[in-house]
Amino acid sequence: VALAGPDAVVVGAGVIGLTTAVCLAETGLRVTVVTAEPPERTTSMAAGAMVGPVFLRRSDPGGTREHATFDEFVRLATIPNTGVRISTGRFAAKTDGPDAPPIHQPTDVVALGPDELPAPFTSGFRAIVPCVDMPQYLDYLRRRFTNAGGAIALHRLGSLAEAASLAPLVANCPGVGARELVPDPSVRPVRGQQVIVENPGLDSFFIEAPFGPSWTSFFPFGGHVVLGGIAVPDDWSVEPDLEIADEILARCVAAEPRLAGARVIGHRVGLRPARPEVRLEVQELEGTRIVHDYGHGGGGVTMSWGCAREASALLTGTAP
Ligand SMILES: Cc1cc2nc3c(=O)[nH]c(=O)nc-3n(C[C@H](O)[C@H](O)[C@H](O)COP(=O)(O)OP(=O)(O)OC[C@H]3O[C@@H](n4cnc5c(N)ncnc54)[C@H](O)[C@@H]3O)c2cc1C
Repeated sequence: VALAGPDAVVVGAGVIGLTTAVCLAETGLRVTVVTAEPPERTTSMAAGAMVGPVFLRRSDPGGTREHATFDEFVRLATIPNTGVRISTGRFAAKTDGPDAPPIHQPTDVVALGPDELPAPFTSGFRAIVPCVDMPQYLDYLRRRFTNAGGAIALHRLGSLAEAASLAPLVANCPGVGARELVPDPSVRPVRGQQVIVENPGLDSFFIEAPFGPSWTSFFPFGGHVVLGGIAVPDDWSVEPDLEIADEILARCVAAEPRLAGARVIGHRVGLRPARPEVRLEVQELEGTRIVHDYGHGGGGVTMSWGCAREASALLTGTAP
């Protein structure tokens, strides 16, 4: 593949790669994104997606990455056609006490009583967070990147050394692909699946927390609603499982009867790139400076801007 010339290469066109690519291209560098799959076939496309709260505290001590991202999404919600909107919704748990959802949102939260929650949920809170329609948002990031002069090349890299041969600066954002590409055996897929239905008139989201292997969540975006959710470790299948889809639908209908009979218009599957903690660090390889930025598990959207700015600063040697 002929890719001579860029100042920087970004591996991956998911939310982590594209956000990093935007940050680098907007500093004036010539940037090429090299990706095995286009943005519409990434895990990022399958995200819900809610910005926060993050459950990966080890990857974000002090919450700086999450807070930087939250603020940026609040700003993006004021710009037309980004796919970002500020939404009100309920976080609900079936238990009180230590298993109840953590409250660490920077916005106001209001505790809810059982009468404001569908059975069997007994505790929770109402909060305001940015919600992201991922197909529209990834399209926005791609436009913003190409408007800044960036290019996207479809190519599956065989090794980190191959990436290093393409440019003096590399941001490595391959999601679950890091397991083979780096290689990093601590990266594992956690399969997720969502059902997309026509919106019967919902205007606020609902999410069960904390997450187990399966839970109830629905996020309305204008004409459609994204229903979840499941988390299946070490499952690499990216085909929708229709039995799982039926179970997701049934759980969501139990929590929100208006979803009964809503027309199913699609299915999305994504492999969360799980890792004990996010890897965001520099490696020098054959004269190339590589910044790794992968392993965001179920919180990649929520940390995307904080991590992208850090990665970009580490690569270019500037303060974030
Ligand atoms: C159902 C579901 C719901 C979710 N909901 C939320 C949410 O509400 N909030 C939140 O913050 N997060 C959520 N997540 C998690 C979030 O989607 C991920 O953390 C995030 O998408 C990871 O982004 P990424 O860019 O690292 O990976 P990906 O989106 O997987 O992108 C990786 C990119 O690297 C490329 N690549 C891989 N290997 C190679 C190679 N060898 N050569 C070239 N290119 C390569 C791929 O083609 C792809 O373009 C959810 C995930 C799922 C599955």
